[in-house]
Amino acid sequence: MRILFWFRKDLRLDDNTGLSEAVRDASGDVVPFYASEPAMLAREDMAATRVRFALDSLADLSDAIERSGSRLVLDHGDPVATVPAAARAAGTDAVYWNDEYEPALLARDAEVERALRQSGIRVRRFHDRLLVPPGIVTTMDGQPFVMYSPFRRACERLPIGAPMPAVTRLGAHELPQRSLASLERLGFVTHQEHWPGGTRAAHRRLRRFAGGTGATPGGGLAIYAAQRDQPAANATSGLSADLKFGTLSPRQVARNIRDAAAADARLVPSADKYVSELRWRDFYAHVMFHFPHCEYAPFRPRFSALEWEDDPRLIAAWRDGRTGYPIVDAGMRQLDLTGFMHNRVRMVVASFLTKTLLANWQHGERHFMRRLVDGDLASNNGGWQWAASTGTDPQPYFRIFNPVLQGEKFDATGAYVRQWLPALAKLPARWIHRPWEAPPSALADAGVTLGTTYPAPVVNLRERRERALAVFQAAADPRSNRDFGL
Ligand code: FAD
Repeated sequence: MRILFWFRKDLRLDDNTGLSEAVRDASGDVVPFYASEPAMLAREDMAATRVRFALDSLADLSDAIERSGSRLVLDHGDPVATVPAAARAAGTDAVYWNDEYEPALLARDAEVERALRQSGIRVRRFHDRLLVPPGIVTTMDGQPFVMYSPFRRACERLPIGAPMPAVTRLGAHELPQRSLASLERLGFVTHQEHWPGGTRAAHRRLRRFAGGTGATPGGGLAIYAAQRDQPAANATSGLSADLKFGTLSPRQVARNIRDAAAADARLVPSADKYVSELRWRDFYAHVMFHFPHCEYAPFRPRFSALEWEDDPRLIAAWRDGRTGYPIVDAGMRQLDLTGFMHNRVRMVVASFLTKTLLANWQHGERHFMRRLVDGDLASNNGGWQWAASTGTDPQPYFRIFNPVLQGEKFDATGAYVRQWLPALAKLPARWIHRPWEAPPSALADAGVTLGTTYPAPVVNLRERRERALAVFQAAADPRSNRDFGL
């Protein structure tokens, strides 16, 4: 029997559930296939940096497939047409793939499956993408979890599967050869730093974080539990794009982290914390799977009534990093230049946009998707709805991050702000998160002229806090609206 394996966001040969099953069932006669999708590439929130990451990863996958004695078959088009066409051309009996859980992708896959079955081609689909697939864990009364902590505890009762060995032999085939498109040919340009994709880069990042050869001395996992919230500390893994595109599986990541902790007991608190953070990724994927309305609307319907101000001038200041609040502007600059932003800063800028500026979280969600190398529907939507207090497991609406206090707490020396806002580089730590309070001599010594070299604050925090509380309170009043009984 011959099987077509359809690669999607699982761009690796090692620990790839569907691929390993295909190799076993077809005794190696597996044709590897990938098709880029015009509809995806044309999405207005598609980011060039993610397309580049995917192209890097495909080039790396293609090399690995050649080393295994085969060739990656490439196509471009709607998978409802391209997948059955490739399966027929290769003379395969079956098509295998690993499932994705976004609502639109599930609907697409159902159509592909129907088209294949109509052509008499068998289909097998596998869970691979998450530590725990949707539907496995439920509350005591059989409902999906809508709170993270009980979700995590339920997941922790299940073992994390051991990674499968790498596939090293795939079948030769005669399908036509097409070369991989370039970023430019796909119509994308970007000034963002190159965040390299592919399994080799992914494993380098994992080693650097978890330890072993090439590890960051005294960095990464060793300081994760204590310093993961400090954006200048280089304490997080930077593996989100690898998990998004599947250049690493979550099982490989969890296993490496736990192995590092097994070898050095001092790493245990960090390893536990890390795996619990990985479960946020699962949690938001489950939420999007069970509550698909989240893609377009607040998880909590009562917040549909929220009266966002959506001031275009303030949204533009936020987007361009010109709010006059250094931690916010530094984060937006990091995002713009690198396609990445530290998690703590994501929370701060998201709170600032939704609470302080009272702009609908969907503006921020869309802007992040247009810029992030790890942009992922479920995690991004979950993060935004959390920050806006409209989501499953939100911070209460009356908890509004103060960007000055957040900066002083998590970037006490101002190293992060200095890195991304050179205009403030010489300002002493005491004023770095509140330059408008600095005495004229301190500003002059640092070469800062507020309103010229760096913006004055676009809003008054105290006034905006009062306003946000009133607006949120009006929408949150349980008498004003029905909700999920939450
Ligand atoms: P680490 O701290 O090393 O975490 C390890 C892994 O755990 C991450 O790579 C990620 O896969 C997962 N993880 C950690 N925290 C979260 C979380 N809160 N939610 C979901 N997964 C998590 N993450 C994305 O992958 N894509 C997004 O589009 C995205 N958008 C976000 C938007 C907002 C407003 C917020 C507040 C968070 C968002 N996150 C998103 C989550 C988080 O910020 C990133 O996963 C994290 O910063 C990636 O850096 P890291 O790999 O160094 O993290």
